[in-house]
Amino acid sequence: MRAQSNDLEGESFNISITAFDRAKAGEIVYETVEKPGHPRLRVITLPIMDRTKTTSPSLVQVATLLDDFDETMERLLIILIIGALTSVGVTIGAGYYMAKKALKPVDKIRKTAVKISSRNLEEYIDIGPRKDELGKLADTFNAMISRLRDAFQRINQFSIDVSHELKTPLTILKGSTDVALRKERDSHEYRSLLTSHLEEIDRMSQIIDDLLLLSKADTGKMQLNIGDVDVRDLVLEVFMDMQILAEKKNVDLIVGDVEDVKLKGDELKLRRMLWNIVDNGIKYTQMGGKVEISSTLEDGYVRINVRDTGVGIADEDISYIFDRFYRADRARKRESGTGLGLSISKWIAEAHKGAIEVRSHASSGSLFSLKLPLSGGDA
Ligand code: ADP
Repeated sequence: MRAQSNDLEGESFNISITAFDRAKAGEIVYETVEKPGHPRLRVITLPIMDRTKTTSPSLVQVATLLDDFDETMERLLIILIIGALTSVGVTIGAGYYMAKKALKPVDKIRKTAVKISSRNLEEYIDIGPRKDELGKLADTFNAMISRLRDAFQRINQFSIDVSHELKTPLTILKGSTDVALRKERDSHEYRSLLTSHLEEIDRMSQIIDDLLLLSKADTGKMQLNIGDVDVRDLVLEVFMDMQILAEKKNVDLIVGDVEDVKLKGDELKLRRMLWNIVDNGIKYTQMGGKVEISSTLEDGYVRINVRDTGVGIADEDISYIFDRFYRADRARKRESGTGLGLSISKWIAEAHKGAIEVRSHASSGSLFSLKLPLSGGDA
């Protein structure tokens, strides 16, 4: 027998056969019933058993419409979709903004790099005080610009100095030739003029030779012919070469204690270096003064020391004397050298993994010390 309440308005709802069977077996069954063109129903089927449980149970079914629930779920779904789309949009927007903000310094670095040329090396990147990787990148970049600026300044100064050094002898040659040509001269006057011209020409070719040597050194094209060099022989050879010069100037050139050791090096270049230092010693020492060459040993190195009793070097000049064309007293010293000797000597010492050290004070003489590594066996 089957009875049905009125509120279903004659609508029937049939649960599935399995649900029906399970209810008949005494189980409470929940099921959702769907019919095309009708709202969904949620049905609970309760088996009612008699006490003896011998007969099959009667079934009571209660159903409720799911349209409210479905509507709520539908709204929830729409809210979820809108929420998800909005949060994706916000995330993309915020991500883009943050990435753009984070990459702004990179763009600044890029723009500065594009602008940099030899004419605007005072530019630098200002991304504020940052300690992160971008801050470090900007600092590195600024340090690189500053190094480039120094290098360009040095090159500029160097070109000015070269022009000046070559222009002075040319001006002298031109001036003296002009004067000589103003009237007839006797052969003695011509000879003396040509002799002075020859000196200026020698000076110019010395400058050019020195410049060529330094530019080869700078570009790494200078080869060292390494071999065994006997320190005593080296000192004695330079001593012999320079003796006449010292005698001419009435400077006492002497050789003190010299170690009997060997170096690995380029003999010609080492001689050139020692020659420069001894030549300076004689040049910058007054008549009656003394220049002494000696050597000492020190932890795998030999020091060839050249001590003079000359004019010395003022404190404000000492850190510049190895710079190209630097002369402590330009006006007075023009005749005496090119201002390149110490730059060349420094390069030669460093190319041999050594160094030149100097100790001097104005008017108390100078000590130049050439520190060079010994050959393996002698150290
Ligand atoms: P220069 O050809 O002028 O001697 P250097 O490069 O050899 O050039 O030396 C540079 C400058 O260092 C010299 O002009 C001089 O002012 C100074 N100097 C070098 N050696 C001595 C020295 N023994 N005593 C005093 N001043 C020196």
